[in-house]
Amino acid sequence: MLIQRAYRYELDPNNIQRTSLSQHAGVARFAYNWGLEQRINRYRNNQGNDRFTDAMRQHKLLNSLKKDQFPWMYETSKCAPQEALRNLHRAFQNFYRGLKSGKRVGFPRFKRRGVRDSFRLTGTIRFEGQKIQLPRIGKVKIKEKRKSYFSGRILSATVQRRANRWFVSVTVKENLADPSPIKGSSVGVDIGVKTLATLSDGTTFANPRALGRRLRKLKRLSKSLSRKKKGSKNREKAKLRLAKMYLKIFNIRQDTLHKLSTHLAKSHSKVIIEDLCVSGMMKNRRLARVIADVGFFKFRRQLEYKCQWYGSELVVASRTFPSSKMCSRCGHRKKELSLSEREYHCEECGLVIDRDFNAALNLVAVSLPETENACGEEVRLLTDSLNLQRAASMKQEPNIISGSVSRNV
Ligand SMILES: [Zn+2]
Repeated sequence: MLIQRAYRYELDPNNIQRTSLSQHAGVARFAYNWGLEQRINRYRNNQGNDRFTDAMRQHKLLNSLKKDQFPWMYETSKCAPQEALRNLHRAFQNFYRGLKSGKRVGFPRFKRRGVRDSFRLTGTIRFEGQKIQLPRIGKVKIKEKRKSYFSGRILSATVQRRANRWFVSVTVKENLADPSPIKGSSVGVDIGVKTLATLSDGTTFANPRALGRRLRKLKRLSKSLSRKKKGSKNREKAKLRLAKMYLKIFNIRQDTLHKLSTHLAKSHSKVIIEDLCVSGMMKNRRLARVIADVGFFKFRRQLEYKCQWYGSELVVASRTFPSSKMCSRCGHRKKELSLSEREYHCEECGLVIDRDFNAALNLVAVSLPETENACGEEVRLLTDSLNLQRAASMKQEPNIISGSVSRNV
């Protein structure tokens, strides 16, 4: 099985490299904004819908202007602007696709300095000892010491700045042995508000509430930032403190989600989750923060690729499946169940059970072949449809399954 995954490491650049990294990020941002402006102008001047201006044509045009107008671009790798224009093109494609399908995808926005600074490089990228060789930038030390980094072909490296630290995310094509199907049991997983996940075998995963617990601190930090005078040194310091806090929260969240999805995909033959209607849930503002905090989208994506890597099967129960409203013992369906009811009381058979556990039991029952499954048609196999989608989007290599691995997994 050919897979594509990303490995993320923190860099330890020296001062010269730091300058060069910033320069690259600056050129990438410039190219992105330049390309965006060009597309908007073309549109305003009625030079047609710009759906067909591709990244390559824009890059050619930018190159022709480079010598006279932007000579400073020669100090960086040509990949930085090229890849930025590709990103821009993708952003437009997503936008148009969103318009077509009725999803709300924002119009591409101009990038600001210091906000999500990043750039992508292709070409000669390789690991040498504890260093990574990047085009134009040279050999940059990696903070984390490892015996070997991985075996595979490197496709690209994305470098990002977060809270004044530099990270590299290396995308690799690897040949993974086809996994033999896992022999473990099926498991139903209820993603909850109070608890991150409740499994049908009784295991629960606590919510890190990374954002929740640190929200007060975050609030204090952002308030302190807003009080600082614009352009002052103190404002810069406050900004960095806030960014550090965000990074911490991001890391905790990432770690929890990866641990949970790896555990599920590695130890169960079938993982059944609910297809949460996230946009509907986002309307409920109190829930919205928790959902965003838990990162449900990320979690589901991780499950999708990890199940394929490790030989497990992912089943997604449809939105109409009444996992929380149904009694897991007798099948009675409640008409109403408010979110505040933490326990499920069945009026039919008298079962009293934890709400999330009840939902997890209903989900696992969905996949058991011996149960008479009234909701059969409400459940669909995700893995097949996923493969088809992927095959359609990557014409040359239909078997590629992309994903990422954080350092902790
Ligand atoms: Zn019952």
